[in-house]
Formats: sequence, C-alpha cells, structure tokens
Amino acid sequence: MRVLITGGAGFLGSHLCDRFLAEGHVVIAMDNLITGSTDNIAHLAGHERFRFIKHDVTNYIFVDDQLDAILHFASPASPVDYLDLPIQTLKVGALGTHKALGLAKDKRAHFLLASTSEVYGDPQVHPQPESYYGHVNPIGPRGVYDEAKRFAEALTMAYQRTHGIETRIVRIFNTYGERMRLRDGRVVPNFIQQALRGEPLTIYGDGSQTRSFQYVSDLVEGIYRLLFSKATEPVNIGNPGEFTIREFAETVNRLTDNQAGIVQRDMRTQDDPQVRQPDISKAKDMLDWRPKIDLEEGLRRTIPWFRQELQRRGELPDT
Ligand code: UDP
Repeated sequence: MRVLITGGAGFLGSHLCDRFLAEGHVVIAMDNLITGSTDNIAHLAGHERFRFIKHDVTNYIFVDDQLDAILHFASPASPVDYLDLPIQTLKVGALGTHKALGLAKDKRAHFLLASTSEVYGDPQVHPQPESYYGHVNPIGPRGVYDEAKRFAEALTMAYQRTHGIETRIVRIFNTYGERMRLRDGRVVPNFIQQALRGEPLTIYGDGSQTRSFQYVSDLVEGIYRLLFSKATEPVNIGNPGEFTIREFAETVNRLTDNQAGIVQRDMRTQDDPQVRQPDISKAKDMLDWRPKIDLEEGLRRTIPWFRQELQRRGELPDT
C-alpha cells in the first residue's frame, strides 16, 4: 500500500511511519513541524519507501502518487499545545480534516481519523463506551481541541455516508512512549523529567483525577488492525488500567528512585476531566485487540529514552 500520514513527524505519526514501513508499505509523511519534529523521522531519511513533505494540511494538499490509505494525525495534542495554539487546533481539525478527506475521495483511498477520548469531555459515564455522546464545554479553553475533533468525526462520517469513502475513526486515550515532546506539558513527560532531575513531581490539584495510560506500541497495533477492519464507526483504543495522578506520580518516583516526592500546584486547566477510562469491548470484539504492556513495563521502556534525550541536550549529566 501507499500510505499518507499527516502529522507524520509527530510522536504518534512517526511511530506509525515505522510500523507501516516495517510491514512493507510505502509511506509519505506530511507535517508542518509546528509541534512535530524531523528528529522523530531522522532515522528514516534515505529509506527507499519513505518520503517527507513539509506542508500545512489546512491548505490544499497535493500528492502526485496514487494513495491507498490516509491516516490523519496532524494536530496539536497536548493541553498546553492546544491552549497555546487554539486557532491552529480548530483549523487543523476542521479545514485539515476537510482537505485530507477531499484527497481520500479523489484518490479513492481509505481514510483513518485520529480522534480522542477528549470527545467525551469531563465524562459523566464511566468507563466511556463509544456510544457515550460526551460532556464537553464548547466554549471552554479545552473546547478548541474537543470540538475540532468532534467536528472532524462528524465530517468523516458525512464523507462516508455521502461519498462512500471507507473511513475509520480511532478514539485515542492517553498514550505515552519514546519521542513524546519533552516540553509538551503533559503529565508523562513532566513527571519523568522532574524525576530524572531529582525534583518533586508537580501534581495539579489534589491528584485525585484519574487517567488510563497506554504504551505507544499497543496503540499502533490497534490502529493497524482498525485500518484493515470493518469497523466504520469510532473505536476506543486505550489501556483500561486507571490510576489517580497521585498514584501515577508515586509510580514514576519509585521507578526512578526519586526521593524528592510530590508537590501540589493549583494549575488544573478549566474542564480538566476528573476521570477517564476506556471501555474497550468494541476493540476486543471487532479487532481482537487488547493492550499488552502495563504501566510499569511501559514506563521502564520510556524512562531510559527520556534520560538519553536529556543527556543528548546537555540537560542531565552523563551516567
Ligand atoms: N497534570 C499534573 N501535573 C503535570 C501535568 C499534568 O498533575 O505536571 C495533570 C493534569 O491536570 C491532568 C492529568 O495530569 O489532570 C493529565 O494531563 P495531561 O496534560 O497529560 O493530558 P490530558 O489527559 O488532560 O489531556
């Protein structure tokens, strides 16, 4: 297959490039490099089945070749990023999805949308099945991401119904692993870096809010299966292992041997979800998928990468 991955130089996009190349496909990565980085795909430079195009997908997308699949992963994705880039976030979810769907229609390519657990907002149903419509504040600061992705889902379904395009929608729950941006402000990079520097971990609020963290290789496997499945409506892909942010901080401190403890900060964003846990029954049934890597195992893989990155940047002494 010939696959276009928008956001291909981002955290998830670059892991998808690796997977599709490993399966023997041709991959075109497209990114405007606002939150993505060529560092994430530097190891693919010169690969005969890989090409990178720097382009902002909110503008008309021109690709010469035939395409079999488009994976639309371009978007700021961390709360700090989308609070910094609210208009770009709305534009890439709306205009960018429109352009990518238009390209899929033109090429008769399959289309897979990266959606998010944020479509459920601050949920009042727990855990969250795909049938839950969500609880989103459209005008709050987080609404720029949530509503952009909700619009993107609506547009994707409209293209499926109106133009008969083969579309898939993955609702991604908190994912972590190698190549997360160090300064993206999310809890995983923040805590790991603080721990490696021997600093206290900054819990926002009292730390009783929960998240369910999945390791990146599990997500990539779920997406790969979804693309080749018959699931034409959204599918949650996440790890149901749910932890309070305080428990998560304690785990990071234990695995890094950090003695500096935890501090509470009054920094929760408005509408920060109080709980989040995927119901993955649909992924189990339709994709025969379930996560394989638990939180400790995933962190044991991720922490050394952050250590190396900080050392490479001279921000941590060599060990
Ligand atoms: N959080 C925290 N300390 C940090 C960064 C985040 O306690 O240094 C909290 C944040 O308030 C939220 C949770 O961790 O409740 C997850 O935040 P993140 O930004 O990783 O992503 P979200 O799941 O909110 O999209």
